[in-house]
Amino acid sequence: MPELTLQVALPRPLPRPFDYLPPPGQVADAGWIGCRVRVPLGRGSEVAPVVGLGEAGAADAPRRLRPVLERLDAAPLLTPELEACLRFASRYYHAPFGEVWATALPGPLRAGEPLPEPRHRGWRLTEAGRQALGTLREGRPRALALVLAEAGGLAEAALDARLPGWREAARRLAARGLAERTEAALAPLPVAGTPPLNAAQQAVVEAVRAQPGFTAHLLDGVTGSGKTEVYLELIRRCLAEGRQALLLVPEIGLTAQTIARLQRGLPVPVQALHSGLADGERARAWTAMRRGEGRVLVGTRSAVFTPLPEAGLIVVDEEHDTSYKQQDGIRYHARDLALFRGRQLGVPVLLGSATPSLESLRGVQTGRLQRHGLPQRARPGASAPTVRVLDLRKRRLEAGLSGELLDAIEATLARGEQALVFRNRRGYAPVLLCHDCGWSTPCPRCDAPLTVHAGGRRLVCHHCGHRAARPLACPDCGSLALQPQGQGTERLEEALAARFPEARIVRVDRDTTAVKNGLAKKLAELGGGPGIYVGTQMLAKGHDLPRLTLAAVVSLDESLFSADFRAGERLGQLLVQVAGRAGRADRPGQLLLQTHHPEHPWLALLLSGGYAALAATLLAEREAAALPPFAHWALLRAEAREASAASAFLEAARDHLRAVAGSETPDGLGWAGPLPAPMARRAGLARMQLLLRAGRREALQAALARAMPGWYALPEARRVRWSIDIDPIDLY
Ligand code: ADP
Ligand code: ZN
Ligand code: ZN
Repeated sequence: MPELTLQVALPRPLPRPFDYLPPPGQVADAGWIGCRVRVPLGRGSEVAPVVGLGEAGAADAPRRLRPVLERLDAAPLLTPELEACLRFASRYYHAPFGEVWATALPGPLRAGEPLPEPRHRGWRLTEAGRQALGTLREGRPRALALVLAEAGGLAEAALDARLPGWREAARRLAARGLAERTEAALAPLPVAGTPPLNAAQQAVVEAVRAQPGFTAHLLDGVTGSGKTEVYLELIRRCLAEGRQALLLVPEIGLTAQTIARLQRGLPVPVQALHSGLADGERARAWTAMRRGEGRVLVGTRSAVFTPLPEAGLIVVDEEHDTSYKQQDGIRYHARDLALFRGRQLGVPVLLGSATPSLESLRGVQTGRLQRHGLPQRARPGASAPTVRVLDLRKRRLEAGLSGELLDAIEATLARGEQALVFRNRRGYAPVLLCHDCGWSTPCPRCDAPLTVHAGGRRLVCHHCGHRAARPLACPDCGSLALQPQGQGTERLEEALAARFPEARIVRVDRDTTAVKNGLAKKLAELGGGPGIYVGTQMLAKGHDLPRLTLAAVVSLDESLFSADFRAGERLGQLLVQVAGRAGRADRPGQLLLQTHHPEHPWLALLLSGGYAALAATLLAEREAAALPPFAHWALLRAEAREASAASAFLEAARDHLRAVAGSETPDGLGWAGPLPAPMARRAGLARMQLLLRAGRREALQAALARAMPGWYALPEARRVRWSIDIDPIDLY
């Protein structure tokens, strides 16, 4: 009988798992499948899962197989359902299982570390601590002592969520004999009261709860309509049934606010999983959910890969947000995987947004998603902001700002309120232009201009990071008339500071928020006082700024004439989000839009019928043009020093596809290219792409499944870096 081998899915771009022998003296059997092993690879070693059993010598040319170095798990690491999800992702995104696996796991587990020990540990006051309570001086230790006294004792996870920096305080209390560690079971957290749900919110909760098993829902609710309260109520009911809940949110910057809000309303510690956490913390949250000790998880994109052995609910907040799509490596979409997992787990999946993606609206049309609307703001007295379009034609502008806009800011500040000035460009100015010959600053490594930074002194490429000093004279004609063109957030900040010298101005973009918790810190800077926020997209998302009553968009014009077929959808989402920042509390809000094209049909639709009207028109246009979501796309990308190498690979790939998948037909498979990518050179590499499309998803998937093994084997593949992007959302 031939000896059995272990098939190990190495996290490498390899189409098949590798065979290894079990360690000497051990036999390969089904008990190994799903466990991590350390295997020799070249001169080093690698950690990867065993995915199956093979037979030694089954291959035509028997190779000398090497034995596994070490078995790392006694039992499979993943739940069977999560394992199935990764297999699905591997098939759907046409990515090797080992790579999907490595993408899905927190770093320490991927590196082979054991599951972190559970933290049953908690803290409570000693008798001495209770007696000293009244005598403690103001400060962290006193705050901790009060929290412990109130709860009778708290788990460390709960303290992490409620009292950041509590550890040092606990050490100090313990040193004085006032507090101690405990292993005992701990009381549930106190829950703060939340407003009773209104009839519309209640109806959504009941509709989601009424149907057993997997159901998929779209909660289409305007900003401030109380979607978060709906999530909270559904999570509470899920916990009461002894089940776990997962809430996905788009950005790290938003997780802190969301966690704090959920924590106040839930009796159990909320686990967090996002890229701002230390690796060890991520592994701990993952493991807590795996063991069932964690009951609620809030996380960004990769949290969709968390085991949920007792799942009861999955929520995807701001489901239209593009950060749910991973843009490198395994290009998965967390929203789509959340729906897949809900189906496997037999639990409801709720997608929430004020501006649903056209994909989800199409899902409502086809019956894949059940739509629930929350058309009104929930807080009594809060109303939607008024919108004014400012025509910039023939207007004198100060750093891109019109007189009306500046007047509106002035009035806002005079009322003691806050204004937001939005511009989706960081830096000082988008380009440096020679006024005499038209020369502008290209990046030497990319097909893009350098952005002017540091008040005009430095040039930076936003695509590859290239830096250069600003030239004193034009390199082409020697003229000294070099002028920064256009406005970035830095220049707007400068102009606003000059115009409103007394006002407090806070700039919020990637440059000012790079530190830990940078966004939260920046947003807290104005407190409740008057002032101006200037910033990029980061500022538009989900934050609750109750004193903000004016939101202004400096320029729409780039979005109105973009080559991206999704530009209209993105613009609608952006404007509604920016508008959503204004007037969230009891004061009315105002949205100002500056443009040279006030009569553009997208603006007319938004103003007359809101996002719903724009989305309906855009969806009809996509259908007429057979664009996604009415067609299914995959993008094969290739990068190489020489454009000819990239196109040679893509041509060979296309020919191979044609050979295995049949000919081009109207409702079958079609392709376009190879063509240069919209940014044809980036970081010194030429970039080409081949677009594949089909009316039916299955046609595209079947063709790719047949073509992929051959693509790996193409001789042209050795000279390029290539990748496949299923359902691409950015064609860069
Ligand atoms: P969304 O998530 O849809 O933007 P939120 O859940 O943040 O909306 O709610 C917006 C505001 O309205 C919050 O301050 C919230 O406390 C309040 N709110 C939500 N539901 C109710 C309700 N039923 N009654 C009163 N206030 C509510
Ligand atoms: Zn010049
Ligand atoms: Zn560059």
